[in-house]
Amino acid sequence: MTSEQFDDALFRRKRKNGTYDVIEAPDLPAFVADTHAHLHMLEDPSFSIARAACCGVRFIEGILDVCEDDLSVMDEFALWTRQAAVRVPRMVTVMYCCKPAPRVPKFRFAVGCHPHNAKDFDEAAEARLIEVLHDPRVSAVGEIGLDYHYDLSPRDVQREVFRRQIRLAKEAGLPVVLHVREAHDDAFAILSEEGFPEAGTLLHCYNLGADELRRWVDEGCFVAFGGPVTFKKADDVREAAAIVPRDRLLTETDAPYMTPEPLRGMKCGSEHVVFTAAKLVEVLCADDPFGAEDLLKQMYDNAVGLLDRPLTVWQKGE
Ligand SMILES: [Zn+2]
Ligand SMILES: [Zn+2]
Repeated sequence: MTSEQFDDALFRRKRKNGTYDVIEAPDLPAFVADTHAHLHMLEDPSFSIARAACCGVRFIEGILDVCEDDLSVMDEFALWTRQAAVRVPRMVTVMYCCKPAPRVPKFRFAVGCHPHNAKDFDEAAEARLIEVLHDPRVSAVGEIGLDYHYDLSPRDVQREVFRRQIRLAKEAGLPVVLHVREAHDDAFAILSEEGFPEAGTLLHCYNLGADELRRWVDEGCFVAFGGPVTFKKADDVREAAAIVPRDRLLTETDAPYMTPEPLRGMKCGSEHVVFTAAKLVEVLCADDPFGAEDLLKQMYDNAVGLLDRPLTVWQKGE
């Protein structure tokens, strides 16, 4: 879907014959946060930001890579947000959930070296990261971790770069956003050796069962669920969500990837987080339909509490 074709807040699923079905968005009784989005990778970020505003998304953590992205893209976000604010009033005429007037979401950013890029994390990259952690828009170090599925960087290099970034996060007083794929034992061991950051640890895009999750939850980690929790065969992920204490449960997209059902296969924007939030409500409030609003408010407060934190010592320049 591109903004040239549609300039509204409706969700559409493409059919084989090239036409579109309109998919009704969940009507959520509270605001939602997207704690993990690479929106600068979209062809028209302001379109997604405007649609997110219409859907009640009020907070977004953008993810930037210190080896792959030009970090000045943070300034572009200010521009895209202003453009989105202009687009929103035109969109709301076709919007379903317009209880309070839509407002463009607030952005904060996590910056780090993704394990895929660990081989490129040289002294210059580390210096860029240290510098940007002083920027008050930056609220976390991430995504960092280990990815043994793709092995795009040698594993020993991934481990070393992960370790260095955990240390930087702790010095800066910032939380870490973890990307861990087929490497949970090593990632957990490294964090245990280094010490889990006091400012918080967020395990992003959790897509495994409850057994793996237990030790992370016991360590006090926050856990973010995205598209995978909505996938049809992912009962184990939904069971895992049920063991996370409510005050550490988060919603995310990983846009432009991981589009939730029923739009799987389409390009993902932050607005799609409402489908993930609705699925968590369905699963976790099955016995208490009146608890939906409380759960949504709690998940939103968790996101803001963890990622829209007051300035750290580094950011104050002390
Ligand atoms: Zn990731
Ligand atoms: Zn990501």
